[in-house]
Amino acid sequence: MKTRLRTLITALVAMLAVTVFAPSPSLTTTSAAPNAATQDVAAAPVAYRGTVYLTFDDGPNSTYTPQIPAILKKYGVKAVFFEVGENITWYPSVTRNLRAAGMKIGNHTWNHPDLTTLSNYWVTWQLNKMESALGYRPRCVRPPYGAYNSRIATLIANRGQRLILWTVDPRDWSRPGTTTIVNRVLANVRDGSRILLHDGGGNRSQTVAALNILIPQLRARGYVLGLMAC
Ligand SMILES: [Zn+2]
Repeated sequence: MKTRLRTLITALVAMLAVTVFAPSPSLTTTSAAPNAATQDVAAAPVAYRGTVYLTFDDGPNSTYTPQIPAILKKYGVKAVFFEVGENITWYPSVTRNLRAAGMKIGNHTWNHPDLTTLSNYWVTWQLNKMESALGYRPRCVRPPYGAYNSRIATLIANRGQRLILWTVDPRDWSRPGTTTIVNRVLANVRDGSRILLHDGGGNRSQTVAALNILIPQLRARGYVLGLMAC
């Protein structure tokens, strides 16, 4: 009788132990790590890693530019569009709609020359002609090809404008594939990055598609998407 009771107690203790310490059936674990700790890590907010900025060059384009604010709006993100003046005269409503959506427009010249090859007169002409198409003087100027020297930098500063280049270039214009565009940005991004993308100058469907992957991925890594003061 004593032996049977001891056996029964032993069995009960074993069952209790299994009930208390057995992993939850909904979680598959390959290590002995406590499930509670694993869940806490997964549920923890992502640590802030910095602010990054999206910029789009060479538009407005009648096909691709209008698709971008719709995607950005979904994520509550705004961006600067460095536009070519000549394109604004072709698609003025596209530019108007960008501004109505809260986007900023930057000066990317009238027709995209290398400014370092032009005299001060013609550099000024390029910038002014873009601004007359736009209807106002934007705060930011991005020289085509990122080509500038101290003469160009001084000229832009004397106009009361900021010269804005970029720090991350996934070469989206070469259409390397949506995944490659995303991966190139993620591999090079850090706090303060200015990301160069293109809405004009050719087929930009890969760039547009990349945004839907890129924005959530940047956020998952702890980045906030900011809007430059342009
Ligand atoms: Zn450009």
